[in-house]
Amino acid sequence: MGSPRTFPAESRLAFLKEQDARHLRRTLSPVTMRRPGHLTAGGEEIVDFSSNDYLGLSRHPSLRRRALNAIKEHGSGSGASRLMSGDLDLHHELERLFAELKGKEAALLFNSGYQANVGLLQALTGRRDAIVADRLIHASIIDGAMMSRARLLRFNHNDTESLAAILGDKRSDFDNVLIVTESVFSMDGDLAPLEEICRLKDQFGCELLVDEAHATGIFGPEGAGRVEQAGLGDKVEFIMGTFSKALGGFGAAVAADRADVDYLINTARSFIYSTALPPSVVASNIAALKYCMQDKDPGKELLAEAERLREMLQDAGLTVRGKSQIIPVILGGSDRTLKVGRRLLQRGYRTVPVRPPTVPEGRARLRISLCTAHTADEINGLAEEIRDVT
Ligand SMILES: *Cc1c(COP(=O)(O)O)cnc(C)c1O
Repeated sequence: MGSPRTFPAESRLAFLKEQDARHLRRTLSPVTMRRPGHLTAGGEEIVDFSSNDYLGLSRHPSLRRRALNAIKEHGSGSGASRLMSGDLDLHHELERLFAELKGKEAALLFNSGYQANVGLLQALTGRRDAIVADRLIHASIIDGAMMSRARLLRFNHNDTESLAAILGDKRSDFDNVLIVTESVFSMDGDLAPLEEICRLKDQFGCELLVDEAHATGIFGPEGAGRVEQAGLGDKVEFIMGTFSKALGGFGAAVAADRADVDYLINTARSFIYSTALPPSVVASNIAALKYCMQDKDPGKELLAEAERLREMLQDAGLTVRGKSQIIPVILGGSDRTLKVGRRLLQRGYRTVPVRPPTVPEGRARLRISLCTAHTADEINGLAEEIRDVT
């Protein structure tokens, strides 16, 4: 797309018009009330397949209770950054739990997944280093790479031969090479080949950051994520997870060795220069982790339902991807995707039309995300409507 002209003001307006013409303009559409798997907007009841609140934890009584108690005890805000007076025992309790879940020595909280990725890359890489990332990696990694001034190299999506070729060709040009992947991809819902990536990382003497934004709470024992599930906790230097998706809260954390966490406390600018997460948010995140850690496999039923929906859509002749609770239906053009999304909404189902630049040109799709609060009837209903309108 290239950068739009930003000056004078008319060129900003012209940019918006152009986005309109290309069916790429982003707009907000507020909802009146959101519950897991459902929402009310414009007076209509809608089945919501667009949220990342996969386990419906945002409304769970224990999360709400702990959040309310934290407000009563500590008030609404944390008052300062962690390195000043904003650092509460609660933050440390959450970090201990997160590290335990991820099987690492220590963990560090960030105020969002976006800030975690930006802070990590800025802190861990510099001019003499390279970041080698999957082609479909989340935008926060791209932004972090820019801030780090490291060279950003991309390997083909989930393609370890492409990764090996880049490392073979370029490893010796750089001091450190940080490989970055998501364990469950946010737009394709598919799974990274973590074992082979770890093997290449060792072979070429690199480090590895795995973003488990969509795996935490869903995959592996106690929802620990795919790194733990594969028994790779010792191999992956930095395991990032968010509280904003399956855990029904807000914020993120990275699990790592103690020394690396101490290093990040001293260098990650998005950690140092931002106010600590509010006590209620931290308390709710603690309750969410405890909820997951009491369950051997919190994502099991959800993943089975997702597989069932994928089969129904495939049987209807649609191109469906993914191996997770995220189910992309590839429709091709932006225009068609928007139309299908709009028709589904008219029939009471909200999905997300995802268009370039978020996904490659010609690969526009409806992104469906499942939640444990969806009934089998609602899932069947969605499949029927999609069959109908495509
Ligand atoms: C959502 C997401 C993030 C950002 O997390 P937030 O907590 O929403 O800021 C980072 N990485 C991936 C892969 C994501 O899907």
